[in-house]
Amino acid sequence: MEKELRLNQLTPEEERVLIHKWTEMPFTGELLEEKREGTFVCKQCDAPLYYSEMKFESGCGRPSFDDAIPGQVHEYVDADGRRVEITCTTCGGHLWHVFRGEKLTEKDTRHCVNSVSMKFVEGKVDMLEHAVHNTADVATFGWGCYRCVEAVMQRLRWVIQVESGFMWWATDDPTYDDVSYDETGHVEVVHIHFDPELITYQTLLNVFFSSHNPTQLNAQGNDKGTQYASVIFTHSPEQASQAQQMIQQLNESDIYTPETVVTQVREASDFWKWPDAHQDYYNNNQWDRYCEFVINPKIKKLRESYADLLKDEEAESSR
Ligand SMILES: [Zn+2]
Repeated sequence: MEKELRLNQLTPEEERVLIHKWTEMPFTGELLEEKREGTFVCKQCDAPLYYSEMKFESGCGRPSFDDAIPGQVHEYVDADGRRVEITCTTCGGHLWHVFRGEKLTEKDTRHCVNSVSMKFVEGKVDMLEHAVHNTADVATFGWGCYRCVEAVMQRLRWVIQVESGFMWWATDDPTYDDVSYDETGHVEVVHIHFDPELITYQTLLNVFFSSHNPTQLNAQGNDKGTQYASVIFTHSPEQASQAQQMIQQLNESDIYTPETVVTQVREASDFWKWPDAHQDYYNNNQWDRYCEFVINPKIKKLRESYADLLKDEEAESSR
C-alpha cells in the first residue's frame, strides 16, 4: 500500500520553474531576504528541503544554502556535463543548481535555489514526524507483552518509529467472535511505522511469525489472557490478504505440526498509545528480569536470523 503523493496546484510561473526547469530572474524572489528561523519546503509537495541555519548570503540573487536536509535534495549532472542540477527528492521538482569549490562557506557548498520553487514555514520541521505522517506505512502486531514486540521491531532497519499501546477487541459492530474474546476488552499491540519502499509488509510478517509462538492461544509464555493474544490488526485489504495467506501457508507446511497457527487477523480500530514512560521499555530496562529472560533470547534470535535487516548500531553490537 503506497501512499499517494499529494501535489499542490502550481501557478503558471511556478510550473515553468519546477516542471519545465526555467530559471527565475535573480534578485526577484520573495525568499531571498527571508531570515526568520524555520524550514524551506518544496512548493509542489511540501517536503522539507532546507533549514534556515543552512541559509547564507552569497550575493548571487537567489536563496543560497550551504547544505540540505539529508536525503531531501537530489543532485545530478546537467545535460551540459558541467553543472549539477538539484531537484526535490520527493516529487522531482526542479530547484536549480549546487556549486562546490567556490570557498564561500566552510562546507564549500552553495545550493542556489529558485525562490519560486519553495515556501517558508516557521519552525524547524521534525523529519521523524514528517516521515511518519507522509511516507511511512503502518503495521500493527501483538504477541504477548508489548515490551517484547516493541524491542524486536525497533531493531529493524527502515522501521521509522515503533509505538506501544493497545487496541480493543470489539469493534463498533461486534460479532460473536469479538464478544467471546472480550475478557479484558483490550489487546497489547505495537504500531510499526515503516518505509514501504525499503522494507515490505511481507518481511515484517516474517519477523512477526518467527519471533513468537503463534500456536499458543491467548497467551505467550507465562503471560496469559486475551490481552496477550497473537494478533495482526490490518490497515488495508492487501495487508489482510497477505496475513491470511501467510497463516494458510504456515498451516499447510509442517513447521508447527501437530499444532496450528491461531494468530487472529482483524481490521485495525483506534490505537491507544501507552504513556511515554512505558514506551521504549527494553532499551531503558535491559537488565531487569523480564528483559533478561523473555526479551534477550528474542533479540538474539533476531540477530541470528535477520542480520541483514538490522539497524547499523544493532549489527555492530551483535559482532
Ligand atoms: Zn517536492
